[in-house]
Amino acid sequence: MKNFRFISVLFLLLLAACHQSRFAATNKVYKKQVKAFSRLIKAYPLRDSAGVAWSREWVGTTNLSLRKPNYVIIHHTAQNSCEQTLKTFTLPRTQVSAHYVICRDGTVYHMLNDMLRAHHAGVGKWGNITDMNSMSIGIELDNNGNEPFAEAQIQSLLVLLSRLKKTFQIPQSNFIGHLDWAPGRKTDPGRFFP
Ligand SMILES: [Zn+2]
Repeated sequence: MKNFRFISVLFLLLLAACHQSRFAATNKVYKKQVKAFSRLIKAYPLRDSAGVAWSREWVGTTNLSLRKPNYVIIHHTAQNSCEQTLKTFTLPRTQVSAHYVICRDGTVYHMLNDMLRAHHAGVGKWGNITDMNSMSIGIELDNNGNEPFAEAQIQSLLVLLSRLKKTFQIPQSNFIGHLDWAPGRKTDPGRFFP
């Protein structure tokens, strides 16, 4: 009996180890990037800009916070599965990503902190904004563009949208589709989007 219990525990531990290791390498890359960003933020005062009359004394303000996203861009992945998209977003050579990926069964993957910049909007224009990635949250819905969206997926999207709206006080009119940002170049979330 004791032996059986030991083997069971060992099996569970092994299972946990296997589960953890699936994206271990790319998660490590993420953490390394975040560490580099925090070093960059800490590296004040910056005095390397030529021609600027910096004061000799550095005065850091006591009143600061992180910049917040003010837009949400909704996409469809134009791929055939969440697995495929997770792979695409963890390959450095693709250079594309989104804050959230919502699978057909409603599962949500949060791939980077909302305060960080994802690479999802690309070239486009909305009003006078030319760098949407710097001020938006990107949400990708697992959908190939030629099929209806799953009910569970839309439910998760609605929960997420209301959460983002509340957390960052984003105006309703700043929730837009990728096609609004880049008409002609993009069509997502597409004609099946409810
Ligand atoms: Zn898109």
